[in-house]
Amino acid sequence: MKIQTVRGPIRPSEVKKVLVHEHTLVHYQKKSAINPVYFSLIRKKVPDIFMELKKYGCNLVVDQTIGYSRYPYLYKEFSEKTGIHIVAATGFYTDKYLPHFVRKMEECEIEEYLQQEIEKGMDGTEIKPGVIKIASGSMTLTRDEKKIFHAATKVCKKTDVPVQVHSYPGLKTITDFFLKQKIPREKVALAHVEACSWLDIKHAAEKGFYLVFTNFGREMKESKGREDIVPEDVIIAQIVYLVRKGYLRQIMISQDFAFFAMDKKLVPYFHQPYTYIFETVVVKLLERGLKIHEIEKIFTENPIRYLSV
Ligand SMILES: [Zn+2]
Repeated sequence: MKIQTVRGPIRPSEVKKVLVHEHTLVHYQKKSAINPVYFSLIRKKVPDIFMELKKYGCNLVVDQTIGYSRYPYLYKEFSEKTGIHIVAATGFYTDKYLPHFVRKMEECEIEEYLQQEIEKGMDGTEIKPGVIKIASGSMTLTRDEKKIFHAATKVCKKTDVPVQVHSYPGLKTITDFFLKQKIPREKVALAHVEACSWLDIKHAAEKGFYLVFTNFGREMKESKGREDIVPEDVIIAQIVYLVRKGYLRQIMISQDFAFFAMDKKLVPYFHQPYTYIFETVVVKLLERGLKIHEIEKIFTENPIRYLSV
C-alpha cells in the first residue's frame, strides 16, 4: 500500500495526523492573469502555518484545490521546505466554475483526462495527484456534473484512487448516485456534510461512505445568513452522535482553510487557520466525551485507509 504525495509515494506508516480537505492558494482567474505578488506572499505564509501544524503531530495535508489555482510545483516546494506531506487533487469543481473545455468534453474524454493526470502527472508535470475531487453545487447534478461524476467513478474503479466530493447541498442525490454506480464505499469521502440535512447525513453514514466535516468556527464572524455555515457546536454534536452510533471508522475532520488572492493581498478564508482543528475542535470533542483513541482514528487511521492505494 502507498499514499501518493506531491513528492512521490510514501508508506502509510509514515503518516501521523491528516487534514483531508484543505487549500493553500485559491483564485478564480486564469493562471496567466494572476499577479506574481501572490506567489511571494503565499511562499511567506504557508510554510509558517505548516510548521505550526507539525507541533500538533499533523504531517499530511490534502490540498483539494483544482482548476486554475492548482499549483503542483508550489505544493512540492512547500512540502520540501516543511516536511509536511501534501496530497494533491485532480478533478473538477461545481458546474458554475467549470472551464469551457470541460463542457465540450464527452464523458470518455474526461475519463481519459483524469486517468492521464493520475498516471503521468498534473498539468504536464511529473507530479501525481492522490485523490479525485468532484463537486455538485445544487440539489441535483447538472448535465456536466453528471459526466464528471460518471468519469470519476470509472477512473476510481480502475485506478483505486479515492474520490472526494463537495457534497453540499445535494448529499442525498450524491449518495444515491454512488450507490447506483456500485463504487466501493471506502473509496468515497463526502465533504461539507455538516451543512446538509441531518437525515441525509445519517443516510450517507448508514450506507458506509466516509463523511468529512469542515468549516469550524465560522459562525462568529462571517455567516451573514449563509445557509452552508453551521454553528460549531452543532457540527461537534453531529460527530459525537455518529461516533456513538458506531460510525467512527467513517468520520474525518478538516477545516477547509484557504488563502484567497484578492486586491494584491492574501485573504484568509473565514479566518480560522488549519491549526484551529487541533487547538479548538479536538479539545471540544474530548470535552464531549470522545476518547484519545477515537480522535486518532478520525485523524490518522481513517485518512490512511481512505488515501492508501
Ligand atoms: Zn474546499
